[in-house]
Amino acid sequence: VFHLGAIYNTKDYILHNANVITMDPDLPAASVIKISDGKIIYVGNEIGTVDPLRGADTEMIDLQGKTVLPGFIDTHMHPALYGLFLLEIDCRPAEADTVAGIAAKVHAQAQKTPVGQWLKGWGWDDSKLAERRNPTRWDLDDAAPNHPVLLKRTCGHVAVVNSKALELAGINADTPDPEGGHIARDPQTGEPTGIMEERAIELFDVPIGSVEDLKKGLKVALADFARWGFTTVHDMSCTGLNMIAYQELLAEGELNVKLRPWYWALKQMDWDPSLEHLIALGMHSGFGSEMIRIQGVKLMLDGSVGGRTAAMAEPFEGEENNRGILFMPEDAFCSEAHKALEAGLRIAVHAIGERAIEICLKAIETAPATVDIQEMRNRIEHCAIPTDDQLRRIKEMELVAGSSVGFVYWLGDSYIRNLGRERLKRVYPQKTFQEWGIVAPANSDVPICDGNPMVGLYAAVTRKTMSGDIFDDQQNISVEDALKGYTTAAAFASFEEDTIGTLTVGKDADLIVVSANPLEIEAEELKDIEVELTMMKGSITHQK
Ligand SMILES: [Zn+2]
Repeated sequence: VFHLGAIYNTKDYILHNANVITMDPDLPAASVIKISDGKIIYVGNEIGTVDPLRGADTEMIDLQGKTVLPGFIDTHMHPALYGLFLLEIDCRPAEADTVAGIAAKVHAQAQKTPVGQWLKGWGWDDSKLAERRNPTRWDLDDAAPNHPVLLKRTCGHVAVVNSKALELAGINADTPDPEGGHIARDPQTGEPTGIMEERAIELFDVPIGSVEDLKKGLKVALADFARWGFTTVHDMSCTGLNMIAYQELLAEGELNVKLRPWYWALKQMDWDPSLEHLIALGMHSGFGSEMIRIQGVKLMLDGSVGGRTAAMAEPFEGEENNRGILFMPEDAFCSEAHKALEAGLRIAVHAIGERAIEICLKAIETAPATVDIQEMRNRIEHCAIPTDDQLRRIKEMELVAGSSVGFVYWLGDSYIRNLGRERLKRVYPQKTFQEWGIVAPANSDVPICDGNPMVGLYAAVTRKTMSGDIFDDQQNISVEDALKGYTTAAAFASFEEDTIGTLTVGKDADLIVVSANPLEIEAEELKDIEVELTMMKGSITHQK
């Protein structure tokens, strides 16, 4: 039993005069919801009282016709990374839209930081910078000659460092590329430009935040999650440090979403590996409490489309040989995946390009016979561009496709440039997933993209990019189906279809009140819907 902090109240509520979209096919619409002890005890059209004995404690909320939806579930994000980023130099396009603007922010931070200490930042996106290019070490050197600097691109798969950082890491023109990584070089001199791709980012000894830092950042992040309407989120890169912070926040009554952690399995990117520890401790998927429940482990197979590092079948647009980077050879990957599966740990595998998806499927297909794959709901994360044959196998093994459909909006313009038009019809193929009967919940991948799920809905329905370009006209789905990606399909992804995902008697009182009815407004307006109230287990976690 955990300590019940401030946000976990036991008040009862009657929400009435509401337009309730339950997402439950047995009772799709209602005007009244009653909530007691964090559970939904009534859905229908009669007001009455919650409980005659406790009627006096019951708060009546007249929603004046406003729309109520199930609380949203984000099945793939990085809460701790986002929290820590919120404490770093913010290089997102809204904050700095030129290379010089980024350098100015670095300079300002350098003024406030003791010489020699690392300056960390995140969020730049060359496709949204006025110069339409990556920043280089030389752009940053004037801004911070005496501090090592490392700024991650929005995708997290590419970073830029300054000369001080290169010097500390001992990297020069003679340094070979590490396995699974790439050091970009000046074509004339061979000097590193400061751009580091994939595992080359690990060459820098950047200090990681403390639990206190993490909790500080997470508190800001959690407020965003509630504001975006999330009542459950999956952490796709959980480490021991994250888990300590989550448990402390829970004990302190600050945890306002249910967390579904996927432990980071191997030494990949910057995070510590957990697979061996979990196996040694006998941890199985499903261990935990209703607020924090372990899902399994996350493995990485390739990079990103924006950074041209996803493992594609065909070269990126305009290149002859670059088909991206595979993080691990097939044999090594299969052996790690099998270890997890045999130990009762579900796997979620980052696989974007066809070559990465292929290795993921092979690993699951060759799992030991003792593992009941079809019952496990293992996941392919992003699953951006599966082939027909791969779709068939995904269905056969009942895998969940963690489709990052919001990328169509946020990163779509770089996808168009890097993949070319023809391939886009197969990218984040929501319609095709539906036709195959593949469960494909949506996700934001915060902080890779902004977390607002209304933009994800918009992308799924309109297939439009941030610049207004049409990504494709083949994979559009209805608003109702897009909503499933954040509700019913997402609940399925953590075996929670009996407790969350719809507004149904007996389920948790996880719900949101929104500013407009998504089923009635113009598709163009979907992305502007605001969450006016969020309730998690019957406690109000956000109110506008
Ligand atoms: Zn991710």
